[in-house]
Amino acid sequence: MPDFVSEHSQLCRFCGAALSHTFIDLGMSPLCESYVPAERLDHMEPFYPLHVYVCGQCFLVQLGEYVSPESIFGEYAYFSSYSDSWVEHARQYAEKMIRLYGLGPRSLVVETASNDGYLLQHFVAKGIPVLGIEPAANVAKVALDRGIATEVKFFAERTARDLLEKHGPADLLLGNNVLAQVPDLNDFVAGMKILLGANGVMTMEFPHLLRLIEGNQFDTIYHEHFSYFSFLTAERIFDAHGITLFDVEELPTHGGSLRIYGRHHENRSLPVSGRVAEMRSREIAEGYTRLEHYSSFSDETKRRLLEFLIGARRAGKRIAGYGAPGKGNTLLNYCGIRTDFIEFTVDRNPYKQGKFLPGTHIPIRHPDRIREARPDYLFILPWNFKDEIMKQSAYIREWGGRFVVPIPSVTVYP
Ligand SMILES: [Zn+2]
Repeated sequence: MPDFVSEHSQLCRFCGAALSHTFIDLGMSPLCESYVPAERLDHMEPFYPLHVYVCGQCFLVQLGEYVSPESIFGEYAYFSSYSDSWVEHARQYAEKMIRLYGLGPRSLVVETASNDGYLLQHFVAKGIPVLGIEPAANVAKVALDRGIATEVKFFAERTARDLLEKHGPADLLLGNNVLAQVPDLNDFVAGMKILLGANGVMTMEFPHLLRLIEGNQFDTIYHEHFSYFSFLTAERIFDAHGITLFDVEELPTHGGSLRIYGRHHENRSLPVSGRVAEMRSREIAEGYTRLEHYSSFSDETKRRLLEFLIGARRAGKRIAGYGAPGKGNTLLNYCGIRTDFIEFTVDRNPYKQGKFLPGTHIPIRHPDRIREARPDYLFILPWNFKDEIMKQSAYIREWGGRFVVPIPSVTVYP
């Protein structure tokens, strides 16, 4: 059983200040990747608080520590290769990095939380040596089977020292959507400082807190995501560990992400781009250095969504889900949406098919089930992939089916 940590011990993951300001409190929720197999449907399920704080000292938005990281990441069901647009995003990234920094057969590209190798494969294809570091053994195995060098490890300061000795320094050190999932931020970033070569470049991508607040993306909050970053906070954290952020890009992925570029303080060969100062001033102007900015969340989205679903069911409409992402589980549990509203959902990931969503116990089927069931509405849970999904599932229009997207507020697409 995961260890429960008392609320009295909540301290900021970066600066250690006591946490007392609530950002969002989404009540109790199960771990969003704990899909339930049929034989465990009658068993009890652990629920943990989804209470997010903002640090009054450094403005890091963060989940209180409720569950031990080991119980979250032991067997992770998310295989990145099951999303076409995400694999394409990775390919474009690899090409850009190779072009910008002249990576070749004598370089080393290291990725933390390398998942099933969906990204590193694009460097391997160009003959560039890679090393993946992935804590989930079942996911790492998929990468190894594809011939992508991978170490099954939690990345941290100590791991970084071992890896440096064994593989040498990284010319490109990257981590996409890992920073949010790091339980000990300082230990992780200290490790990046160690493994990054003297002239190396570090890039990281993470959902931008500014877009989360702007777009009401509260469903991107779940137990696996410990921290939520503005550029200002990210800059402060890396700076404390001797890494200068010299560039920043805004990306459309995951509802709006930042890609930050870092290098050692001492490495002056890479000048700081004007985009860094621009991003800083934009966040300051929008209030990210003032505590009151962090208390804008309201329950209105939940009420509107439930109104829509109740109306649809009253009118005899049938609703099926699309996708079984972590964010879907936060949304469904927070709103109390179960099979009374959504009959089933579908997912392309065979690992999830045949299982049930945590907490709500909505069954997960193969996407072919949509054609058989002919639902009136297809409720898109991974709204960040809505364009891709509406294109793939356009055939529901044959029987008058329509798409429903819940965030930023419930919208029906014909
Ligand atoms: Zn803090």
